[in-house]
Amino acid sequence: MDINQDYVTTVIQKVLENLVSEEELSISGASGDGVCQTVEEAVAGAVQAQKKLTSMTLGQRDQMIAAMRKVSLDNNETMSAMAVRETKLGRFEDKVKENILCSTKTPGTEDIHPEAKSGDDGLTLLEHAPVGVIGSLTPITNPTGTIIHNAISMIAAGNAVVFNPHPGARETSTGMIRLLHKAIVEVGGPPGLISSVSQPTMDTAKEIMAHPKVNMLVVTGGKAAVNAVLRSGKKAIGAGAGNPPVLVDETANIRKAAKSIVDGASINNNIFCTCEKEVIVVTEIADCLIKFMQETGKARLLTPHEAKQVTALVVTREGGINPAFIGKNVQVILKEVGIELGEEFRLAIFEADKDHPLVWLEQMMPIMPIVRVADVQEGIDFAVEVEQGNRHTAIMHSTNVDNMTAFARAVQTTLFVKNGPSYAGLGLGGEGHTSFTIAGPTGEGLTSARTYTRQRRCTLVESFRII
Ligand code: NAD
Repeated sequence: MDINQDYVTTVIQKVLENLVSEEELSISGASGDGVCQTVEEAVAGAVQAQKKLTSMTLGQRDQMIAAMRKVSLDNNETMSAMAVRETKLGRFEDKVKENILCSTKTPGTEDIHPEAKSGDDGLTLLEHAPVGVIGSLTPITNPTGTIIHNAISMIAAGNAVVFNPHPGARETSTGMIRLLHKAIVEVGGPPGLISSVSQPTMDTAKEIMAHPKVNMLVVTGGKAAVNAVLRSGKKAIGAGAGNPPVLVDETANIRKAAKSIVDGASINNNIFCTCEKEVIVVTEIADCLIKFMQETGKARLLTPHEAKQVTALVVTREGGINPAFIGKNVQVILKEVGIELGEEFRLAIFEADKDHPLVWLEQMMPIMPIVRVADVQEGIDFAVEVEQGNRHTAIMHSTNVDNMTAFARAVQTTLFVKNGPSYAGLGLGGEGHTSFTIAGPTGEGLTSARTYTRQRRCTLVESFRII
């Protein structure tokens, strides 16, 4: 077990005494708790609930959102422990941070403020209206954060949502949906506003995608899933895979860069899509960066021989990532090649050639290649190549504004983080709202309530000015 089992057991017991029991979370199929037997039942409930929501006030919507934030925070530790136990991915303490971030920094109804234009020809009002029922496919990597974030955003915009969680995170995801559903209903919200099927599968995903009463689709996942929703013929938002490069030039504050990279690449064992996945560093300062990364006390430098052993372990013969090691603690991975590490370590680093598979694959584990380049221009060119057009995330450490601008312009990512860990771009220690559905392929960026709206214009053709 990667997390301290006694601690988690104590936390779970404490939380369960006061709040919702795990048993209660996993009662399967009882309609009325948001978890339905069939897609048809979930969509029918969502249609009715969304209709009711449109006749309720924004104030009532705010109450539902406040209740969703509260129930997510109150049950955070239970749900985080459940996610780690069920998916065997990531770290308990980082999932706790993710849930706090999604509960507190996902915008509510303030995100859909109307806009008005007044002039000689009258008044025009632009309102952000709901799209109706949204189908949302969620990933195994962030089963609670994505559901909290998407549910708050979609309901703030006046929609209902039918989730199809990843089957590998079924219990945690449906548990989270039950909690949110209960919280909404308790403050007078319509039942069915948030729902899922009790046994989500690829078939139920297809059923949701094809359902005539589902107005919009959102997928948070890998390339195949994004492509599937984009082929659906419906309005679709795709938040896909990334391979974020972090570039360090010779002007960087090297110690700060080293700490940021170790922290950013190791959060949740590298399973956030935004995590640094390869370091590209100008040769002049490469030794210093590696030394400072080790001096954080959290990063273990692998010898070339060890790096070969680890690569053979985590990269399959077919050239993909071995799923057995995704999201695991560094100790678990290195133990397989006979390296014992203390609990304080969070990341393994090694020097790699440009064509090393872990430079090009989305490894989602705390094993980090470091590639040397002659100068910043070579670094920019190479980073653009390894980002592979995902338009997802890139990070740079530099004090040269021209260099940072040149990289940002060349790489064209949705998130570009300067002089901090990647997660600062998610609002964790950085400014701005959070999102765990980052829509690079379809361009909505860090999604929020406004993403899930359609624009409606109302024009009054008379002078309506008060000045
Ligand atoms: P995944 O693509 O395997 O699954 C995501 C969801 O899509 C699941 O609900 C799954 O059941 C469904 N799905 C998968 N293939 C499908 C298909 N062909 N048709 C219909 N539905 C399908 O992804 P995952 O392993 O759960 O999550 C990890 C991936 O998600 C990584 O690539 C990561 O970068 C990405 N991710 C992206 C973001 C973002 O905001 N851009 C956030 C989290 C994760």
